[in-house]
Amino acid sequence: MASNKSKNQSSLSLHKVIMVGSGGVGKSALTLQFMYDEFVEDYEPTKADSYRKKVVLDGEDVQIDILDTAGQEDYAAIRDNYFRSGEGFLLVFSITELESFTATAEFREQILRVKSEEDIIPLLLVGNKSDLEDRRQVAADEARGKAEQWGMPYVETSAKTRAYVDKVFFDLMREVRAKKMSENKEKNGKKGGKSKRNLKERCHLL
Ligand code: GDP
Ligand code: MG
Repeated sequence: MASNKSKNQSSLSLHKVIMVGSGGVGKSALTLQFMYDEFVEDYEPTKADSYRKKVVLDGEDVQIDILDTAGQEDYAAIRDNYFRSGEGFLLVFSITELESFTATAEFREQILRVKSEEDIIPLLLVGNKSDLEDRRQVAADEARGKAEQWGMPYVETSAKTRAYVDKVFFDLMREVRAKKMSENKEKNGKKGGKSKRNLKERCHLL
């Protein structure tokens, strides 16, 4: 894994998350609100960018890498590369736009296809723009039902008011971390914990 290559540089765990969803749902606004505590209303809609931040996850210093995708996902090869690089995904729609909710099914399928070799794919369904209740087109119960069917949590956020913004990133990181821990356990089990790296990883877990 990439994080093991740069031990001298940093021994912090790095969790890589990807923002996925239709244009205009608030992927950039959520990312920038999480990163810089500000609501950016007019972020360039075609610009994909990545961000890294040090955070404390349940008492542990970790780094989060956020890839904020944009229109380029229309090119299957670029999108697949993006998705392959991700460890966890925020599947975002806007509660004010029914089409963006419908579109999450296709995004989810693309993720499952690219990650087909993985048993678990950390994913959260995010209904953004919860501050625009009067313009709601997607009932919370409907979204929750879909998420349940897909076996993932559903959370409503507002990039404008910052409601639940930290929660979705931290909950996703917890899922990514849990997945890595169970994978490490499996590896150690199989190899009898002989390798130095596994031992070291196990120590971090303690
Ligand atoms: P992206 O294409 O998914 O990256 O969407 P953007 O982050 O660029 O947001 C699209 C538009 O929706 C912008 O005008 C944002 O200001 C607005 N927006 C994003 N999130 C929210 C939110 O939570 N509440 C409200 N009221 N507007 C939002
Ligand atoms: Mg954007």
